[in-house]
Formats: sequence, C-alpha cells, structure tokens
Amino acid sequence: MLVDSFEVQSPNVVYTDDYITSTYEYASTKLDRAPDGKWVVKPTKSTYQFRVDRRVPKLGVMLVGWGGNNGTTLTAGILANKHGITWMTKDGLKKPNFYGSLTQAATLRIGNYEGEEVYAPFKALLPMVDPVDIVLGGWDISGMNLAEAMERSKVLDWTLQEQLVPYMRDMVPLPGIYDPDFVAANQEERADNVIKGSKREQMEAIRHQIRAFKETNSLNKVVVLWTANTERFAQVVEGLNDTADNLMVSIDRDEAEIAPSTLYAVACVLEGVPFVNGSPQNTFVPGMIELAVKHSVLIGGDDFKSGQTKLKSVLVDFLVGAGIKPTSIVSYNHLGNNDGLNLSAPQTFRSKEISKSNVVDDMVASNSILYAPGEHPDHVVVIKYVPYVGDSKRAMDEYTSEIFMGGRNTLVIHNTCEDSLLAAPIILDLVLLAELITRINLKKDDEEAFHGLHPIAVLLSYLTKAPLVPYGTPVVNALAKQRAMLENILRACVGLAPDSQMLLEFKA
Ligand code: NAD
Repeated sequence: MLVDSFEVQSPNVVYTDDYITSTYEYASTKLDRAPDGKWVVKPTKSTYQFRVDRRVPKLGVMLVGWGGNNGTTLTAGILANKHGITWMTKDGLKKPNFYGSLTQAATLRIGNYEGEEVYAPFKALLPMVDPVDIVLGGWDISGMNLAEAMERSKVLDWTLQEQLVPYMRDMVPLPGIYDPDFVAANQEERADNVIKGSKREQMEAIRHQIRAFKETNSLNKVVVLWTANTERFAQVVEGLNDTADNLMVSIDRDEAEIAPSTLYAVACVLEGVPFVNGSPQNTFVPGMIELAVKHSVLIGGDDFKSGQTKLKSVLVDFLVGAGIKPTSIVSYNHLGNNDGLNLSAPQTFRSKEISKSNVVDDMVASNSILYAPGEHPDHVVVIKYVPYVGDSKRAMDEYTSEIFMGGRNTLVIHNTCEDSLLAAPIILDLVLLAELITRINLKKDDEEAFHGLHPIAVLLSYLTKAPLVPYGTPVVNALAKQRAMLENILRACVGLAPDSQMLLEFKA
C-alpha cells in the first residue's frame, strides 16, 4: 500500500508553518580496549535536535555542460513531465516518468497497517522541490541551442524530440570556461562558446552569470552541477592549490594547473551556491575543499554512479557479505557518445579509471576473514570508444570468487543501456537533495545553536561513484548502506527511527 503523505505525531516532533523540529536519540557504539587487550563495546546514546526549513524555495539549476547528452536529456525529461507530453513508438504510446530517480520514483517503508506493509514515496519524507518547478539553465562551450543539442545527442525517441523543440530551441547555454589542456584534443571543434580572459576574469564571469540567472528568474536558490566533459586530474602542488589562500593567489596569477571545473566551483562557493561534481576529476583539490568549508557552502561528488559501478557496489557487497571472496573483477565498457570520445584520450580515461577503481575498497576491508591485510581482488577497468553504439553503453563484467573448499564461482554480467537515461534522474536527485540538505540544521546534546550539516555532502554518496567525504570520515561505497544513511537521516528529521527490519511485532 502507498500513502502519498503523512505527518508524524510524537512529543519529540513539532511542526510549525516554517519548520519541522525533531528531538532524536542516536544509538551507537563506542569501542575500547581493556588493559588485557580484550575489546569492549559500549552502547552509547546521544541526543540530536534536527530543524528542517519547510519553505520550499523557487530553485534554479545551472548545469555545466548543459548542451551535452545528460544536460539535454534531463531538460527534455523535465519538460515532458511538466507539459504531460506523450509520444508514439513502435511499442505503443509512451508517457513521461521519473523512473531511476530515488526521490521521485522510489518508496520507503513507513510501517504496517492492519497486516499490510505501508510505503510512502521517498519525496514524502520531507518537503522537497518538485522537479517540474525547477528553472533550468547553464553553460556549454558549444553554443548550440538545446533543441539542436538534443538532436545531436541521439538519446530520445524522435517523435518526443519533435514535440519538445518549441520548448527547447530558445534555451541557449551561456559561454563556458574552456581549457584544451584539461580535456581530450577531440573536443576542440565543439568549443565555439567560450569565456575569454584570465582565470580570475573567467571565474568572475561565472559569478556574474550566476547572479544574473538568479535575478532574471526571481529565484530563491541556485544549485550548480558539473555534467561537462571529464577533465584530466589536476596536479596537487604545495603552494599552488593545497590551501584556500594559495588557490586564490594561483587564480590571480593565472596558473595553468587550475582546471576549469575548479574555477566554476570556486565561483559557486564565493556566491554561496552549492556545487556538485558529476565527473571523476579532482575538481575538489585540497584548497577548494578548504574554501568550501571556510564559507560553509555545500560541495558534493564525485562522478555519477549510474550503471556498471552501481551494480558493482551491490554485487560485491552481496558477495563479501555472504562470506564469498571475490578475487578478480574485470569491467569492460564500450560506448559511442561524446563522453566516450573524450574518454578515449589516456589522461581523461585515467580520471575515470581512478574513480571506478576504489569502489570495492570498503567492502573488502569489512571482511578480514576473507582478505589478509593489504590483500585485494584484481580489479581492472577498460573503456573503449565505439561510435556505432552511440549513447547505448555496453558494460561487461566478470566477477570471479573463491567459494567453499577451493571452489570457484564466476558471474558474468552484460548490461546494455542508454547512458544518459540512467544519469539524468541521478542528476535530478543530486540537485534536489543538495537543495534539501541546505535546509537541514542540527545541534547535538548541549550545543547552543543550530548549524548546518558539514559542507561536504556525504549524504549524496548513494548517487556518486567516488564519494567525497571530510578528512578522517569512512568512505562508504556499498549501495544499500549509502541508501540507509540517507534514508535514516531524513527519517530522523521527522523523528522516525531507522527501519530496523526486525519486525518484532510479528515475532512475540
Ligand atoms: P557529453 O560530452 O555529451 O556532454 C558534456 C558537455 O559538456 C558537452 O556538451 C561539452 O561541450 C560540454 N563542456 C565540456 N567542457 C565544458 C566546460 N569546461 N564548460 C562548459 N561546458 C563544457 O557527455 P555526457 O554523456 O553528458 O556526460 C557528461 C559527464 O558526466 C561526463 O564527464 C561523464 O563522464 C559523466 N558521467 C556520465 C555518466 C552517464 O552518462 N551515465 C555516468 C557517470 C559520469
């Protein structure tokens, strides 16, 4: 059974017109080692207060790379939903939906009513922006309008595209920051819409564009998300980009090693605008992270977790969690879109390889019955550009594991899917959740004043391949754990306990 909305009745939860305030008892554990070397585990309890601003803002979303496959597909999808556009295919009439979006198309368990399990839409947990109310905008180094760019992307059915053209032909991306040193040489011919000038001038131009977008559209809030080409990694050098101050001085000095994505991110932080990175490169060099923390502006990333890696973060969690030992994981991809073309250069491929590689680390580290210290499965990632398949990416994975008594188990997965149809709903979730997170405040035990969550938005981990976390925080890649973290914190905001799955009421 699905309930569309609900309100929690509890002495620990107060609803006013502007806020939901909840008092939440957080149960955890503290580990100690006794003098004789024995481990002692102590259950702990601490009290948090959460306060969520219920006033949903008029939200603008600016995409870096708006004219790309993801940018045009998301824009088209939102418009089709907003205007109720249906279209014919050889399989019959198709209706727009938000399948693949956690906030829009997934549910969570609320409880049991007269013996029937009751679920609510994920988005019913806390007040969120409705996707069809988002004002979209952004940048692209290619000046093509969104209708033509959608055609160039070759993702959506033609009869749908035809109906969307009137809505999209007047949408034209703002000029962006282009530096050929950071992307593949094959992107050069696209770059006809670029901001000229020094790095400082380019960064200031982005700030100005954000302000103008906000003003022109009378927005309360803007979120910026990078869905532009994957850049190569920037070198992290002492004195260059290792601290916030050095980064700002380096921008003034027009240092070559400051990537365009970092310039966009700096501009956002200085404007107080959340910035999410959907590609694998190290936009968030240490100086950039320090800047965001200093200004308390949300940053999140890296790299959308859409297909192959999402499955990997489920499958390896299942295998290791079942006491089975994956020993070799080999992942081949081929794709024929512009992302694939850009990734065919070794330096940009390397960024993707790095972000895809660490995804099983936490699961391996969780089980030292299976793995000796330092031991790790062989893990190889290959990506090839094959123009013919276009956006319809092929991902082939072979998982070999050791099982009982020297046995071997091999799983082979073949995944064929339009890449951008997986990524677009994830982009939507990232911007909706980033906005929501900025409305959550909390305080612990005897803290006097409410404050925001840490500016590094770990809650977005479910949606990213290489979650960005504050220094010293555990990185969680396992998909179910990432979802539980997000769901349980949002539940705590309305005073609901995590769903323990114990179903004790049926067992006594
Ligand atoms: P795309 O090449 O179709 O789109 C990228 C767009 O960015 C292009 O239109 C390009 O002109 C523009 N661009 C490049 N550099 C820019 C800059 N500095 N400023 C402004 N615009 C710029 O690629 P896509 O398929 O839309 O993927 C976008 C990104 O998302 C890629 O980096 C990709 O690796 C990443 N990603 C995609 C998926 C997925 O689609 N499933 C999953 C994970 C990550």
